[in-house]
Amino acid sequence: MQIKGLIRKTESVCPKCLEPLAAAVIERDGKIFLSKECSQHGEYELLLSNEPLYYKKLDQFYFEVMKNAKPLLEYELWPTLRCNMNCSMCCFGEDRKKLETKEPTCEEIEEFIKDKKHSFYILSGGEPTCRKDIHKIIRVLKKHDKTVTINTNGLKLADLKYLQELKNSGLDRVNLQFDGFHREIYRVLRNSDLLKKKIEILDNLKVIDMPTTINAVVVKNVNDDDLINIIDFGIKNDFVSGINFFTICYLGGARNWAMDNYIMPDELIDILDKKSSQKINRKDVFIFQKLHLAIKSFLKQRYCFYNQVYLLVRYKDSYKGIASFLNLGKADPWLDRYQKAYKKNKIEAVLYLALAIMAMLTNIRVFLIAKEIFLSGISYFLKTGRYLKNRQFLSLSFSTGCDPYKFDKMIVENCQNEIIAVDAGGKLVHRGREGLFCMDFERLCVQEKHNL
Ligand SMILES: [Zn+2]
Repeated sequence: MQIKGLIRKTESVCPKCLEPLAAAVIERDGKIFLSKECSQHGEYELLLSNEPLYYKKLDQFYFEVMKNAKPLLEYELWPTLRCNMNCSMCCFGEDRKKLETKEPTCEEIEEFIKDKKHSFYILSGGEPTCRKDIHKIIRVLKKHDKTVTINTNGLKLADLKYLQELKNSGLDRVNLQFDGFHREIYRVLRNSDLLKKKIEILDNLKVIDMPTTINAVVVKNVNDDDLINIIDFGIKNDFVSGINFFTICYLGGARNWAMDNYIMPDELIDILDKKSSQKINRKDVFIFQKLHLAIKSFLKQRYCFYNQVYLLVRYKDSYKGIASFLNLGKADPWLDRYQKAYKKNKIEAVLYLALAIMAMLTNIRVFLIAKEIFLSGISYFLKTGRYLKNRQFLSLSFSTGCDPYKFDKMIVENCQNEIIAVDAGGKLVHRGREGLFCMDFERLCVQEKHNL
């Protein structure tokens, strides 16, 4: 059957019963949707983008150049599934307890990681600081030359001495949950009036000059108005090297939230295009994605299509988009040629990528950032620690995780996050890609509830 406005066929699941379904990415009425139909629960259409011109081209670019991408330069290591908070939007929700099991000892972690080829580790899971020996775990990873960052709600970091000890143990970066500058946001998302505490935590991170990424969960009509405030804060504080805007996943605690609150990463670019006086501009972000994906594909590194990235440059007490320093417009036609050549002739493709990079450097302003973009760029793509510490740039990422609404099998096949955690028997194992893990866990919990 011919599907009207078809861009790509894929597989997804029914958000209600989680049964696998055929799905399609389609263009209709000037928007892009993920469309699917369950024989029991009817039709679902999820808005993916309001900008079909860019989205469609990016979708095609991605699936043509990312075909041979391989796993993974980074691991998510979950030393615990416990947590000291009770967030309403937690992707495990009240079912978290099912995952809690024996925790790996430091010695077991060392044994598991010591021969691993890749060196970039994100401590995550539940809340890693619930482990009393988290300093020791960090030291073990550092002993084996790993780059170590931690995903944390930060509650423990309100104690400056504790934070200093993490830094002394060798921690390379803190990824701090921080959802915005209004108290109401935390009451809705985190079940707790946390703003004052979060500001204290940021102060502490600044005092000890800890490289920090702000992780904000974005929910429509809750904190989508606050994105620009978070960016302004990041620009003014150069211990912040990145901001990750992560749009809400309807899993666990947020499973049955109203669709009015749903938002996809692509819409965040619309918001910032309007609110940043064009410093973050849709067209620049689009070409920057192509460049980023082209380099990733050249290196055969997996990357999630739902994630987009952009780079801001701190400049004279304010900032500019990276497009003010790199000639992205000149690079764009070469990136198109890269895409076309990629299937047929790899050597030709590499030549076009080199020409795209050279074309990009034809902006006179590039000399202002040349050294840092070169060194940080190499560090970023090879996943060494250096790029986490740069002060010239503020990286933005617009990302999300899998849930039953947005689940797209073709995309999750390129999920770059590999989880290392204990299995049901308490043994440390690879638990697979984050997207598949979350979806499998959700399926388990929903089916159990139906059986009751
Ligand atoms: Zn269904």
